[in-house]
Amino acid sequence: MDYTVIDHQGDRFSVRNIYCIGRNYRTHAAELNHEVPGQPFFFQKSIPALNTAKEIILPIDREIHHELEIVVLIGKNGENISENDADDFIHGYALGLDLTDRKLQTKLKESKLPWLLAKSFKGSAVVSTFQSENITDDFWLRINGEIRQRGNGSQMIFSIPQQISFLSRMIPLMKGDLIFTGTPSGVGYIQPGDLLKLGVGEQPIHFLSVR
Ligand code: MG
Repeated sequence: MDYTVIDHQGDRFSVRNIYCIGRNYRTHAAELNHEVPGQPFFFQKSIPALNTAKEIILPIDREIHHELEIVVLIGKNGENISENDADDFIHGYALGLDLTDRKLQTKLKESKLPWLLAKSFKGSAVVSTFQSENITDDFWLRINGEIRQRGNGSQMIFSIPQQISFLSRMIPLMKGDLIFTGTPSGVGYIQPGDLLKLGVGEQPIHFLSVR
C-alpha cells in the first residue's frame, strides 16, 4: 500500500515518518494539567496511521479525542538545520488531526511507557491536502457546525522553525516526513455520525465524517 499526501500542485509525496510534538500550546498543556516543557519533545505515529480520506473509522471499543494541528511536509533531506534555514526544508502546510486514545494515553503516561499505541492506530493521522503558504490565520475545527478548537500558529510555544531545527539535530529529517506541530485547547471526543470541518480564517479546507 502506498501512503502518500498531495501538495499544492497535485503532486504526490510518499510519507516517510510522522513526527508529532507534544504540549506546544500553553492552553492545551493547561487543560491536561501539564507543565509547559522547557524544550520540545516528540513522539511518532506509524505510517499506516496516515489518513487522507474523508472519513474517520473509529477503532472498536476505544474512545478517541481530536487534536487539531498544523502539519508540515518536509520537502528535502536535512540534518542539523538552523532555525534560519528551516523554511527551505518545508514543502507545504496542511491541517490535520492527531487522533488520540486519551484513556490509553493516560494509562501509558502513568506507567511511564511510550504513547505509541494510544497515538498510532489506523487512520489516526488525519491530513488535508498541502498548500504552499504557511497557515498564519486562525485555524479551526467545527464538529456538527459548532466550533470546538481554534488556534493560531503565533500561540505555539516552539515555532515551526524551532521544531524543525531541534528535531533535525536529534534525527535526520527525510523528504516526505510530516510534523504535527501541536494542538491548541479544546480537545474532546468524536463519535460515529459526527461531521468535522477543518478550516483557516473563512476558508474550510477539509471535511470528514466519523463512523
Ligand atoms: Mg497532538
